[in-house]
Parts: sequence; structure tokens; C-alpha cells
Amino acid sequence: MSHAFSYFIPTRVFFGRDCLNNNYATLSGLGEKALIISGRKSAKACGAYDEIVEVLNKLNIEFVLYDQIEENPSFSSVQKAVEFGLENDADFVIGIGGGSPIDAAKAVAVLIANPFMKIEELFDGDFDIALPIVAIPTTSGTGSEVTEFSVLNSPENRKKSFKSDVIFPDISFIDPKYTLDLPTELTITTACDALSHSIEGSLSLKSTILTDLYAAKAIELIKENLPKLVNSSLVLSEEERYECRQALSLASMLGGMVISQTGTVLPHSFGYNMTTFYGIRHGVATIIFLPSVLRKAERTNPEKLRVFKESFKSVDKFDDFLEKLGVYKNIPKLSEKDLVDFSQFVAKSMHVSVTPGNITYEDIISIYKEVCG
Ligand code: NAP
Ligand code: FE
Repeated sequence: MSHAFSYFIPTRVFFGRDCLNNNYATLSGLGEKALIISGRKSAKACGAYDEIVEVLNKLNIEFVLYDQIEENPSFSSVQKAVEFGLENDADFVIGIGGGSPIDAAKAVAVLIANPFMKIEELFDGDFDIALPIVAIPTTSGTGSEVTEFSVLNSPENRKKSFKSDVIFPDISFIDPKYTLDLPTELTITTACDALSHSIEGSLSLKSTILTDLYAAKAIELIKENLPKLVNSSLVLSEEERYECRQALSLASMLGGMVISQTGTVLPHSFGYNMTTFYGIRHGVATIIFLPSVLRKAERTNPEKLRVFKESFKSVDKFDDFLEKLGVYKNIPKLSEKDLVDFSQFVAKSMHVSVTPGNITYEDIISIYKEVCG
């Protein structure tokens, strides 16, 4: 078997407890005034905001804070952050939070560097500069801290993503301690996102020997550690709890490194409208479609399930694992109109061509019926 591939991730990653404090000098040189971008509460509650303020003060770097990014960031909040950054002459951005503030920070970095560009033009990809970007994840799921993707919510309530090498973060500080108090529901949905990235990446027709290695490790880490956190959190010692969190942060980063090369496949496309129109969080909205897509792929390309099976053995066992996590609770039944609209959206997505299984429009309808019927 030949192994031709390319691999490109220009992000300098610092991983581990107190990694920001221990490596803060790397921030000097990025700029003179930072625009910090976060959601409303968690960046402060988890301690990341105070830490970045402390190190920026030590480095005599000025900063301003825009802390109004909502889940599934809207065009309008990105636009407001851009105006705020321009008014304040910010020359680099720091995204603190889950995928939403980090993705918003990436969009803002492009739009401030290209002040005549409209937000819709992000999706044409016709730009080649962005302000420097620092990412500080406080969830463990999206892997946005190491990807060239940003996912925004359009005024029509559609998830739209753009990709560019210039939005890979320059530096990521991944400290698992910021995730210690993530509530169980967010722990499950974000870990499901990382698990989907890893399994989808291994399934993708664009997988490589290197992404398979990362995916295999990430899948194993989540399979071992997520149930411990969900079912026995109360009996874990502080150190054991930290180790589980560390495993999920590492898995999230590895999953991000996987999709930075392979992209995602059909379950992500299936999930997008479940999030925007039915409010199901991204990780759960995605993973509920993974067993059906795996079964289709197994018929035509059984070898593409090799990495997945090293950990989960069979699709039925994986389904069981998901059932025990409770991801199938509260799945809404789709209206006839949504069933057709969503299926057309999925059928037109770029994900079709990289997903094994020769999945047709009829298959897409039947998968939606199977999961949301
Ligand atoms: P998120 O949407 O960023 O945040 C979800 C919720 O978690 C928010 O209420 C947030 O509160 C809270 N939160 C964050 N950190 C916390 C902490 N340490 N403790 C307690 N609560 C915390 O969640 P996410 O799942 O990380 O990101 C999802 C977004 O990323 C979606 O838009 C998805 O499409 C996108 N995504 C991007 C990529 C990529 O490669 N770029 C990949 C996959 C998914 P606050 O609002 O107060 O912060
Ligand atoms: Fe995702």
C-alpha cells in the first residue's frame, strides 16, 4: 500500500496544566493591542480570562474585551466584534471559549485585516491575510484551536463554514484545567464532537496514515475517559478527574488535527440543521447520524471502518455506547417539510463526495427518518 500524503498545521501548540503561564513570552511580538473575544460567562468563570489578563499586563500589551459571542456565532455578533476591534485599533485577536468564540475570533481576524470586506465574502475565500490569532479552548470538542475552519450562523439561520490557512491559530494554549467544571451535558456533547471528528476523519476518503494514527488515539481516549467522567465523577479523586479532562482535551486537539487534513464527512452535514432549527447542540446533533453513515459505508468500503473497529469493534457496540451516554434522548421528530429541506441541504453538501458508501438522496431521507422518525 502506498502512503502519499501532505500534512500542514502551522499552529504552535502548548498543552498541559498552566501552559499559558509557563509560555506566555511567546505572545510578545504578535501585536501591541489584543482584542479578546469570548462568550458571556465561561471565560471568566473558568479562570482563563484572568490568566490572560495577568500575562498581557506582564508583557505590557494593551487589550480590550468583546464578550458577547453566543453559541453558534451569528454574523451580527461577529460584525459588532469587528467594529469594536477597529475602533480600538486591535492588531491581534485572542479567542477564549468553546468553538463559538474561537471561530468568531478567526472571522474577526480576517475582517479586521481586510476592512473593506463584507462578512458574506468570507465564504468566497478571496483573502490572504488575517490578524494573528491566539486560541484558548475552554471546552474539549471542536478542535478549532488547531483547525483552519470557522463555522458561523447566517441571518437565514444556516451554518456556513469557511476555511483558509490564514485562520489556523498562530498559538494555542490548551490547558485542561479550564474544562474541569464543564457541566455533564456540555462534556458529553463536546466529547461527541471530538469523537465524530476522529471517526469521520478515519472514514473520510481523504484520510491518511498520519490522520488515522491521531484518530485511533483520540477515539480510544474518549471511549475510556468519557464514561468515567459521566458515570463516576463523584467517586474520582481530583487527580483522576484532571486526568480524564486532560484525555478529552488531548482527544479534542487530535480530532482537530485530523479534520484539519481530512475535513468532516456526512454526519456533520446531517447535524447542522438540527442545531440551527431544533436547538440540538453540535456534538450530539452530529453523532446521532454516525451509526447510520457507518453502516452504509461498511457495505461498500468495509476497510474504511478499520480504525473505528480497533476501539468499538462493531457499529452495534458503538450504538450501545451512545445510548448509554443518553445522546438519543429528546431527538425531535422532523416535519415533512424539514425532512425534505434538510435532505436537500445534505445532498448538496461537499461532504457527500468524501464519504464512502455511495450515499444517495434516498439514503439521506431514510437516515433522517431512521434517526428522527
Ligand atoms: P460553544 O458553542 O463555544 O459553547 C457552548 C456553551 O458552553 C456556552 O454556553 C459556553 O458559555 C459554555 N462553556 C464554554 N466553556 C465552558 C466551561 N469551561 N465551563 C462551563 N461552560 C462552558 O461550544 P463548543 O461545542 O465548543 O463549540 C460549538 C461551535 O463550534 C459550533 O458553532 C460548531 O459548529 C463549531 N465547530 C467548529 C469547528 C472548527 O473546526 N472550527 C469544528 C467543530 C465545531 P459562554 O457562552 O459563557 O462562553
Ligand atoms: Fe464538529
